[in-house]
Amino acid sequence: MSKRDADASATLLRRTTMRPMSTVTWAFPTTIVFGAGALGALPEQIRRAGGTRALIVADPGVTRAGIVAKIVARLEAENLPHAVFDAVDPNPVEKNVLDGVRAYKEAKADLIVTVGGGAPLDTGKLIALKATHDRPLVDYDDATGGDRFVTSSVPPIIAIPTTAGTGSEVGRSGVVTLAATGRKTVIFSPYLLARAALLDPDLTTSLPARVTAATGFDALTHCLEAYVSLGDHPMADAIALGGLELCARYLARAVETGSDLEARGGMMKAAMMGAVAFQKGLGACHSLAHPLSSEKGLHHGLANALCLPAVVRWNADIIGAEKRDHLLRALGATGDLADAIVALRGRLKLPSGLREEGVTEADISKLADKAFEDACHRSNPRPVTRDDLATLYRASL
Ligand SMILES: [Zn+2]
Repeated sequence: MSKRDADASATLLRRTTMRPMSTVTWAFPTTIVFGAGALGALPEQIRRAGGTRALIVADPGVTRAGIVAKIVARLEAENLPHAVFDAVDPNPVEKNVLDGVRAYKEAKADLIVTVGGGAPLDTGKLIALKATHDRPLVDYDDATGGDRFVTSSVPPIIAIPTTAGTGSEVGRSGVVTLAATGRKTVIFSPYLLARAALLDPDLTTSLPARVTAATGFDALTHCLEAYVSLGDHPMADAIALGGLELCARYLARAVETGSDLEARGGMMKAAMMGAVAFQKGLGACHSLAHPLSSEKGLHHGLANALCLPAVVRWNADIIGAEKRDHLLRALGATGDLADAIVALRGRLKLPSGLREEGVTEADISKLADKAFEDACHRSNPRPVTRDDLATLYRASL
């Protein structure tokens, strides 16, 4: 994700770190069970969270991959009642959340097990929110301080990622496109954090190479943007660099040999670390990426992969030599940082520009308007105007 926590982090940044000498909030609270077979911890984690009836939230792809069936089998073996809701779109819309709430209520569920990539994970969190919160979703929009309406009554959530990218399993927000505005909207609250995340690399081995590459680039972008973003967060910085090292070590391996469990596990860690790190903030790349998904249907990670080099060049003189050297070292690269990213993107056989994905000069004006509305760029180390964002799109064509 998508992004999601991204904009929310920008809000946190506005609230807590922009003023010198103000206090900052650092938190890494999710219980994480990692390793091949981690899925087996699900019944225990449901009980720990006090759940008796689970709604499993997935999407049709997760169901087709047989992962929902694996989860159902686990719960049946332990006599844990459950229902399945998998009508979630690749870029979730409001209707998905409302339909999910209906399924939750019909099933008389009291806990959500959300499984999949960023789309189902985010949607599962928002279903949990709406199951106990009556306002229309738009009221919870982070951009208008909607988190003040979110209370601790959100039912417990257990997150099971099946990709290694968004890190939504440890994030505290969900992104949804609202019917009224057609805009990707971030809903953020610490109450949306999963009680536990089960990171089982066995669940990612069947991901196709291109999805592995695109989602992995999302993780890489989270780490990189978080590290250079404005704000004071030494823990996030260290985690971001650690996540980047894992991306450098494992992303190409996971793409080239899908069955490589060590590489798959390394990327799951990197994705989770990227999302932990970006509670510090993200940057202009995510503001560019969000409208590419809502307007042009691009995969979120691919959108980041295509925009990141231009943003890195844009920020190059601002971030300073020390940060640049740390980033190069983490990536195991020398020379120019943007060139290193382009080279990795090429090795992963991702496209080299937005044109290849059907974006043209004629799209840029509208995309730039939407990108400027997006909050992520507010924590970019070098400020951007709406026209700067248009320039960055043009440089990414
Ligand atoms: Zn992202």
